[in-house]
Amino acid sequence: MEKREQLYEGKAKIVYRTDDPERYIVYYKDDATAFNGLKKGTITGKGELNNRISAHFFALLEEHGIPTHFEKLLSPREMLVKKVTILPIEVVVRNIAAGSLAKRLGLAEGTPLARPVLEFYYKSDALGDPMINEYHVYALNLASAGELRALSDYALKVDSILSAYLAERGLELVDFKLEFGRTAAGRVILADEISPDTCRFWDKATHEKLDKDRFRRDMGGVEEAYQEIWRRLTGGTE
Ligand code: UDP
Repeated sequence: MEKREQLYEGKAKIVYRTDDPERYIVYYKDDATAFNGLKKGTITGKGELNNRISAHFFALLEEHGIPTHFEKLLSPREMLVKKVTILPIEVVVRNIAAGSLAKRLGLAEGTPLARPVLEFYYKSDALGDPMINEYHVYALNLASAGELRALSDYALKVDSILSAYLAERGLELVDFKLEFGRTAAGRVILADEISPDTCRFWDKATHEKLDKDRFRRDMGGVEEAYQEIWRRLTGGTE
């Protein structure tokens, strides 16, 4: 597998072409942003940890029948993925009120939700990712009804698989964001990343935050929190 030219640089990752037209390489950076790019910083070692944590989750989800873009790890900061066109919809699933939901609905952070909440946001940096519903998705031709059904079903399945897996490791999956892509064959598969940058993880017993909220809220111990997630996933064996 040969790395070719850079295709795209995002806030936390760089995507490269390869000599295989159907495969890309994703490189995970230490750069961190929050509040739609207003807050910028570096989390030392984040790139390596998010690459490994995402690979771990993608492999677990594949085992449970969720198709993902992940193929294999190539280096500490790089993974080989299937080429997809990312759908401009961020899919958020929530189990416990936190962040923007707590604020919008006036709920105390940590309030359990009676059932998972599925939300869609329109991926647009210029607009600050506004929340949308299925009518907007169809009105703006962002996805077909079949695609929206597939990504909603996948997102809720991902929630049950990861919630159960993390519970065994003493973690609560508070909420998370997923992105999906279309393959050349027109299939919708899970893409992007699944990491402490894109999920809220709380320690089950202490409710300590072990995710990017430590960076967003200047709480300190950011690197340690990401390392702790990796340790919980592997039991310190890898
Ligand atoms: N999230 C994300 N990228 C975004 C916005 C949200 O990965 O651009 C994740 C975030 O880490 C959290 C979940 O989606 O796990 C819900 O985020 P929320 O809407 O509460 O927004 P925030 O509080 O991050 O502004």
